[in-house]
Formats: sequence, C-alpha cells, structure tokens
Amino acid sequence: MASTVNPADIQPRQVANKSDKHAFLEAIRMTLNIQSAAIRHNTQTFNRNRYVAVAKLTDYDELKDCARRIKEQAIADSPQLLKQLEESVRRNGGHFYLAPTARDANQYIRDVLVKHEAKLVVKGKSITSEETRLNHELEAAGIKVAETDLAEFILQLADEQPSHIIAPALHYSRERITALFKKKFQTSLPLDTGEELTRFAREKLREQFIAADAGISGANLIAADSGSLMLVESEGNIRMTMNLPPLHIAIAGIEKVVPSREDFGTFLELLPASATGQPITSYVSILHPPLKAPPFAAPGKAEKAREFHLVLIDNGRSKMREDPVLREALYCIRCSACLNSCANFETVGGHAFGGETYSGGIGGSWEAGTGKLMNARFAELCTACSRCVNQCPVRIDIPWLNENLRHRMNQSQSPSLTKSAFGAATGSAPQDRSAPLQKQFFGNYHTFGKWGTHTAGMANGSLDWPIARSAMESMLGVDHRRELPKFPEKSWVDLYREEPRPQRRPEASAQAGSLPSVSVLADVFTNFGSPERGMAAIRVLRKCGYDVELTPSLPDGRAALSQGMIDTARQQAEGMLQMLRPYVEAGRKLVVVEPSVLAMFRFDLRHFADPAFFEILRSISFEPLQLVSQATQQSGLDLRSTFPAESWSHGTKLFYHSHCQQRTCNAATETIDVLRACGFDVVTSSVECCGMAGSFGYKADYYDLSMAVGEDLFAEIRDSEAKGGSRALVASGVSCHEQLWSGFRRPVHHPVEILDSIAR
Ligand code: SF4
Ligand code: SF4
Repeated sequence: MASTVNPADIQPRQVANKSDKHAFLEAIRMTLNIQSAAIRHNTQTFNRNRYVAVAKLTDYDELKDCARRIKEQAIADSPQLLKQLEESVRRNGGHFYLAPTARDANQYIRDVLVKHEAKLVVKGKSITSEETRLNHELEAAGIKVAETDLAEFILQLADEQPSHIIAPALHYSRERITALFKKKFQTSLPLDTGEELTRFAREKLREQFIAADAGISGANLIAADSGSLMLVESEGNIRMTMNLPPLHIAIAGIEKVVPSREDFGTFLELLPASATGQPITSYVSILHPPLKAPPFAAPGKAEKAREFHLVLIDNGRSKMREDPVLREALYCIRCSACLNSCANFETVGGHAFGGETYSGGIGGSWEAGTGKLMNARFAELCTACSRCVNQCPVRIDIPWLNENLRHRMNQSQSPSLTKSAFGAATGSAPQDRSAPLQKQFFGNYHTFGKWGTHTAGMANGSLDWPIARSAMESMLGVDHRRELPKFPEKSWVDLYREEPRPQRRPEASAQAGSLPSVSVLADVFTNFGSPERGMAAIRVLRKCGYDVELTPSLPDGRAALSQGMIDTARQQAEGMLQMLRPYVEAGRKLVVVEPSVLAMFRFDLRHFADPAFFEILRSISFEPLQLVSQATQQSGLDLRSTFPAESWSHGTKLFYHSHCQQRTCNAATETIDVLRACGFDVVTSSVECCGMAGSFGYKADYYDLSMAVGEDLFAEIRDSEAKGGSRALVASGVSCHEQLWSGFRRPVHHPVEILDSIAR
C-alpha cells in the first residue's frame, strides 16, 4: 500500500532500525525527497577527490596489501594484543576496561563520570559511542553531553543518527543547517555562509570546552605495545576534547588494536586519501595518555590531576571474529571509500542505506554483528556491482558480505509449501527454498528463460495480459512501470547449432592461425535475452581471425548470488565449472559477453572454484572487444578497414555507457579504443552505474531509487546531446540496455552488434 506520509514529516530516527521493512521503504522515500541532492554532491566530491589522491600514491597496491596483512594478523592475534594493550595502558598510568557489551561500556563510563562528579562532558568523533547509545545513558544519569565535532553537533541539535561513517551530517545542505540553527538557537544573526555557520558553532562549542569536566573521544587505531592512540580529524575539536578537561575517556571497538605504533604509518597514508581525498588529514594526533601537561582549569574551577580510561568494547565483535564471513568486516578502517563510490549510497545516503549506527555497503555487516541480523535489511540496497571492492584500502569483499547477509535473512524466513514447491520447480537448492518468491524468481532466471523461449509466442503474449501482469506485480513484486523483455523464439545455442558448418568438440581446437582459439560462454542472459547479440559476438571474433566455439548454456550462479541464494549459486557455479574444464584444458581463451558474468570469472567464482582453477579462469576470460583489441596487436588487424564506422546506418556519433562491472573488471577501455579506431566519434559516460543492476530495477520497492540513480546518466546524455547533437546510445550490459530504454525509449546498441553490422 502506497504511503501517504509526507516525506518531510518522516524523522530519520523513526526509520533508523531497518528490521521493520516499512521503515526501510519510508527511509528510501524520505531520503530521495529530502536529502538526495546534498548527499550526491558531498559523496561525489569525496569520490572524485579520492580518485585523484590515490593516483598519487605510487605504492597504492602495496600499501593496501600491507594494511590488509596488518589487520588480518591483528584480528587473528586479538586476545594476546588485548592483554598486551592492558599492560601498556596501566604502565602509562591509565585505566583499562574491556566491556563485553554496550551496556557494560555505558555503565563503566557513567560510573567513572559520577565518581568525578562530572556534570558536562565534551565528546567527539566516536561512532562506537553511537553504537552503545552512550549519550542517552549519560543524559539519563543527569550528565550533559556536548558533541563537539561540527557534524555531530548538528545531529545532536536535530536528534538524528549519522548518515555517513566519517561525515555524519553529510545529508544536510547549508540551507538546512541555517534553518536548523535559527530554529534551535532562536537567533537573528546572519548564518548564510559556511564561515558564518562555523563561527557561530565554534562560539557555542568554546563555551562547552571551557566548562567541561571530562572529554570522551574515539580512536582510529590503538597500539598494543605502547598504548598509543591515533586519531585523525578535520577540525581540531577532538584535540581539545582530549587536552582540556582533566578526565579523558577513549572508547573504541576491540578491532582497532594493532600490534605497534609503527603500523600507524600505512593507515595514515591510506585513510585520508581513501576518505576525503586529502594527502593527510588536517589534524593527526598520536598520543599515549594520560598526558603529562596539566589540564585546563577555568576560573573558579579546582585544578585536578589528569586521569585516563581506555574502554574497549566487544559487543559482538568476538563472535564476528569466529564467523568465517563477518570476520572480514573487522578489517574495516572506516574510511568510507565504499560509501562514496556506491551509486545507491550516493543517491540515498546512510539514513536509507544504513541502520541505527553504521551505513553503506559495509554497514550491514556491522549492524548484524553488533546488533541483530534483520537490522541489516538495508544490505538489500547492495546490488553486488562490486564498484567498491577495488576502492577498499583493506580489500574487503563487500558484495560477498552482503550476499551472505541476504542468505542468512532468506534462511531466517519461515518456510512454506508454496515457496518450497516454487523453488523445487525452478531450480533453487533445497537450503534456499525458504527465500521469498521474488528472490527465487530472479535467482532462477535461467529456468524462466528456458520456459519462455520454448513457448515464446504464448509467453510473450501473456506478458501483456493484465491478469498475468498483476500476478507478477503482487506475487513477485515486479514494478508496474517496468517493461518486461520479450523472450526470443530461439536461444543463442539454438541459433549457433543451426549454423551451416561442422560442429567441433572443445578438445579438437586447432591453433591454426596466429590467434588463439576461443570459447564463447553462452551465458544465460545473452542465451535467453539477446541471442542475436551473442551470434554477432561470434561473427565479429571470427572476422578478427579467431577460431570460435560456443559452449553449452548453464547458469553460472550470478543471478542466484545476487539474491543471496548462495547454495543455489554454488550448485550452479560448480556445474558450469565442470562444463568449462575441457575448454580450459584445451588451452582456449574464454569470452564472456555479459559483463556481470565476466565479473563472476574475475571475482566471485573464487568462492566456489578451487583456487588454482579460479586463477586460470580469471586470467583467460575476456570481453569480446578486448579480444578484438588484442587481434590488432597480435595479427595486425586493421580496424578502420575491417569495421568502417561510415558504413553504420545510425551514423558515427556514439554515446557509450560502460557497465559498472565491466569497469571493475578493467574491461571498458578496449571497447572505447576499438570503436574510436573504427572511426566512431565516442562520448563516454562518467556516471559509473546506470541504476538498473540486474533484477534490482525491476523490483517495485526499489524502482524509484533505480530511476533516481539512472537520472545522473540520463542527464549526462541529455547534456552531451544539447551541446553536440544527437548520438546513438551504446551500452555493453543487458541491464544498461533496459535502463537506457526506460529513460529514452530509443534503440540502444551493443558494440559487437555495431561491428557485426559493418564488417567487411
Ligand atoms: S557492491 Fe556496489 S552496490 Fe554493493 S556496496 Fe559496493 S558499490 Fe555499493
Ligand atoms: S569497508 Fe573498506 S572502503 Fe569501506 S569503510 Fe571499511 S575500509 Fe573503507
């Protein structure tokens, strides 16, 4: 039922806990309507700056490997490091407390503050204290907490949870902050510029710093050997939090502990570059408290000796450490690169793509690990596009974490006869048959593709029957505004079989020419969705001089994996790997037309294949135009004369959008280079994701978000055409074709179809 609540009336805290599906959908509506413009501007600025900053790190890959090694080892050695850290803190003259739960941490901190008769606490940069809801606990005990980080100051005034892990108020535009300050402080001061706002906030905060009895900080890293804390910040307020009051309490999760202060260097290089794109953060503090210099004593206040407490919290982290999947989330250094590079996050931010504390692609694992599994429902917004994987400085496989969360959520659903029968008929593994019908429908695309192609006339006709359409919408959650693609009368494999030429077996491949023999994978999306495109790929490769064969069409696991049906995905992937072995052993290269399936070969199959076979597959799998490009180098193929752009009936001006996973696989540039070498004038999209993301854009719950993400791409195309005239739309992925069609209702072409139609 459509909501009637005005999005402006939805308070972020009301929809913070995503275990409630209604709250989750309301959060998407609220953020799209109220917050999206500010979130886009801020995340996209961070992301652009990050690209520039990491490009300047000449040893970026080595730094990432090193950071990963340090974190892996630190988590493996966590029990010993915690003992060592306790000794270091006590040796330095501080107090150490390891809190098993959030409640224990809050009680300990409250007791320390009560003992010190603290009435006012300044606090800064501690997402862990947000996890434990510390402010609530202290305020209930009559202790006032003043947030000192500017963003957290804004959120405290607005009573909202963070929407981003390093820029918690990133969803606020300057205008909204002005309105908030004017309302809360009843001031008529001009607050129309960033300078006026920060000056106003600084004056308010100064009063708190001077009067504070205690300071509470977080910590980015903690060294076990010395008890040193490392903190990075932009404003310098945490420094005052730690320096001015006599009592300093640092609160952090146990995963922040690394062996030694020497380990800080690697993270100091990676963290600012990955977070905001700065070479180094404005303020870096490395200290081992209690500090030696005397604390600040305001006039009229008694001088007190310094005291330091380190409160480390477990709150589910030890269980995450034992969990073969969630353990990887403990390596996170909270840089936010995965948030800022994620198209869905850029559009709705952490109030929709996030929970009560943690947000973004990595946030689901943290909400599930430190809270309840269903709080991570927002992990559904991860489309497994894998854009973030290369951006993570500790190489966390974020889509894999989210696919596993979905798997667990699917399994937590109660089974039903309908779901079981549907799963058995469509090909779900027995363990995945409690998944919702919608997931089993999209996860078993190959089954519906097969049925639809065998009965194309009837199946295509029924797609237009109101009764069939309404059943798909009510039972499978397909959005009524999406046009469903028609089934072909013959699959790719059928068309290939009907070709008038002798059939060959994989082991009979001949290395006749100077180019290697290739096997083209009959991926299920091309096989049942665009068989003519598949045939075009074969003809283009043959034209280039390759000896080409088509494999049988078996599901590869991509569709099932994206629905969190991991057992089904494993079953399917294993079947396909077995089918491919003879082709690989015959020394053939592998061509994959659909980029999301190519991403399986480059990344995801590592979870299902034996490591040696996976490494081979990864190194021999290519997009068709990558092989066209290789042919120009290996056999001197002249693209200009073989595929002359002038012959194309739609002109030579193209707008090319490369698929997000094609970019992640580093397979996009060859397509652009080949098209240009043929004589095409190619404008490319800078937008990295079209928003369709396989089944995601078909789902009624996510249609608006999908189209909002797509709007960035549509705007780029409109802008390009306004400046330079109309261009033919070209894209490489099935989903991108669907989305561009929805946006423009114009034909969308595939690069291999263009080359095939102009080959001489
Ligand atoms: S895999 Fe894609 S959708 Fe998922 S979190 Fe990463 S960038 Fe976002
Ligand atoms: S998962 Fe990786 S990219 Fe995302 S915040 Fe953590 S360290 Fe950064």
